[in-house]
Order: sequence, then C-alpha cells, then structure tokens
Amino acid sequence: MDLADLHRPADGALTAMSATSLSRRALLFGRGPKPQQPSIRPPWARPASAFADACTRCGDCVAACPERVLSMDATGRPVFDPASGECSFCGACAESCASGALSKQPSAPPWTWRAVVSERCLGRQGVVCFSCQDACPQQAIVRVPGRLGGLRVDAERCNGCGACVGVCPAAAVRFECAAEASS
Ligand code: SF4
Ligand code: SF4
Ligand code: SF4
Repeated sequence: MDLADLHRPADGALTAMSATSLSRRALLFGRGPKPQQPSIRPPWARPASAFADACTRCGDCVAACPERVLSMDATGRPVFDPASGECSFCGACAESCASGALSKQPSAPPWTWRAVVSERCLGRQGVVCFSCQDACPQQAIVRVPGRLGGLRVDAERCNGCGACVGVCPAAAVRFECAAEASS
C-alpha cells in the first residue's frame, strides 16, 4: 500500500485499516534518525563491568528463555532484543545462570530500561497508528493532545517489557535507562 492509499478524514488526520500492514519502506518517511538500540543484558544482570567479568558465555540463559528474546552478541554474551518480542520477566534466564552474572533478587526490579517514542512516530505526521499502544500490557503509552501529537511513554508505568518495539511500523520506539527516559 502506498501513502496515497491512506484515507484523510475531515479532521485532516490520515488513517489506515492497519498501519502495521503497510510496508516499512512506504512509512519510513519519519523525521529524525532511526533509533540506535543500546546493548541490553538479560533481566537481573549485574552492573555492566561485573556482568562482563562474571558471564562465562555459556548460553544457558538464551536456551532457557521461553520467549526467545535473548541472543548472543558479538562478544559471546547474552542480550535482550526488544524488537524480537516481549520479556515476561519469568526469571528463567536468571535461574539458569550458574555464574551469578544474572542474579534474581525478590526485591530488585529486573532492570531500569524504559521505552521511549521518538520523533519518527507516525502520529507526529498525522497518521493514526495505535500499534504500540495496543501492544502495551501496562497501558503505559498515551497519546499527546493535538492532531500531530504522536504518542509518548509514561515512564512510571512502563516496565521495559519491549512489547511495543517490534510492532511499530516506523521503528520509532527505542529503549533508554529510566533516568534518561523520564527526563
Ligand atoms: S525473564 Fe523470562 S522472558 Fe525475560 S529474558 Fe529471561 S527467560 Fe526470557
Ligand atoms: S547463563 Fe549466565 S554465564 Fe551463561 S551466558 Fe547467560 S549470563 Fe552468561
Ligand atoms: S516497554 Fe513499556 S511502553 Fe513498551 S509495551 Fe512494555 S510496558 Fe508498555
């Protein structure tokens, strides 16, 4: 489908039967660079340097993940790719880790990553798209008032599950640590 196929109602906003069904090429006219995704270690990972030292690169956490959202990076250590799916925070990865690189503590949050909607959001260009909002189990994605307001993430509600990332047809959602996401 081409952008010319989109319907423009009286209020001027573009709509589509399903924005996610549009080709990425047709929709990647968004402003701003495509978000670069930082390396995200599995939930309950120790701080970066301690994790790098402790991880034996065994791959047990990757094999244990029922959601298949972990993979090994170029260094042979595991990373979470939110574009591949949603982390359910089941803890299977941490439970499988014998080295202590991942250590699930009952009172500790799994991580401080939070989603952020970038300037590429189709809503900022007048296209109605609810893909990320529909996917969010925390109801953390809200529409900014105004026809070209787009969407934003409430960092207080977001738990960093990643469900909103892969469903975005404009690759507009990136991950940041909580302090950056709430600023
Ligand atoms: S908590 Fe569960 S779903 Fe999330 S990365 Fe670990 S094993 Fe996978
Ligand atoms: S199970 Fe632990 S030691 Fe093995 S790759 Fe995963 S994080 Fe590293
Ligand atoms: S990462 Fe945050 S905003 Fe995205 S679906 Fe999960 S809870 Fe919702």
